[in-house]
Amino acid sequence: MAATLMRGKPLADRIRARVADEVAAIGHIGLVTVLVGDDPASEVYIRLKHKAATEAGFEAVDLRLSAETTEEALLTRVAELNASDDVDAILVQLPLPGHIDEEKVIRAVTPAKDVDGFHPLNAGELYLGRPALVPATPRGVMALLEKHGVHLEGAPAVMVGRSDIVGKPMAHLLLQANATVTICHSRTRNLAEHTLAAEVLIVAAGRAGLVSAEMVREGGIVVDVGMNRTDDGLVGDVDPAALERASLMTPVPGGVGPMTIACLLENAVRCARYRRKELDYPG
Ligand code: NDP
Repeated sequence: MAATLMRGKPLADRIRARVADEVAAIGHIGLVTVLVGDDPASEVYIRLKHKAATEAGFEAVDLRLSAETTEEALLTRVAELNASDDVDAILVQLPLPGHIDEEKVIRAVTPAKDVDGFHPLNAGELYLGRPALVPATPRGVMALLEKHGVHLEGAPAVMVGRSDIVGKPMAHLLLQANATVTICHSRTRNLAEHTLAAEVLIVAAGRAGLVSAEMVREGGIVVDVGMNRTDDGLVGDVDPAALERASLMTPVPGGVGPMTIACLLENAVRCARYRRKELDYPG
């Protein structure tokens, strides 16, 4: 029996419509994205984020800096954005060019304006079970699972990937939903043994076809976060043949991607509420 597809777009559209109402009610919300250099994939992501933000009524500023921008110059721009009353939310697109210390830049963004939720303070609040600004992709995955009535309480959930952006925050959200969480990574022995045990399998490794159909539990729920550009176009980390074994599965593209953008906009509204003291920022 083929899996039911968990499409992101219908839910993302609903979230974006709600965000647009909230933006209209708040009035001005300033979102600034910073792109350093000309990485083609980053350009695509920035364009998509801007289109969505503008459609939702944000004042979205697309700041482009040359690949030669020094770390010091970037940190100065970030400090200006932190201090600006016109700016509610700041997004520095990763990856940054190699001569810039990403960690330093992430730390430089005021935590309450950190729309990506990458600042150590936001990561720490999530770790402690008091989520404030949480990375958009894992939030999007949780929203999709909830929409499809996935029962996480006690369920064996396996996260393949442990990046700061996807894998780790995802594992924490699953844990907070009382799933029984296993985190796999490139050093995991016998990955299939773990994936086969997963009632809920979330894959964010950036390796096309890493998870074959045989590695998916019969009737399992599969979320494929992977986005790999190949000669066959954009593909996920899970072989689409797994649709024959799973009960629910996200498509690539059209699964997690639209949710990431919608949840990013939700985070930007949250930033605006922090700045207006409608919400208390924990830090
Ligand atoms: P990273 O490269 O930062 O992390 C990849 C993770 O996968 C690492 O933890 C790595 O392990 C693990 N990994 C790599 N190879 C294997 C393997 N053979 N077996 C098990 N684990 C492995 O990637 P990101 O987390 O940033 O992104 C992952 C994927 O998700 C990418 O394809 C990216 O494009 C996509 N993505 C999609 C988004 C969306 O909106 N749909 C948003 C963000 C990302 P180790 O730590 O040991 O190196």
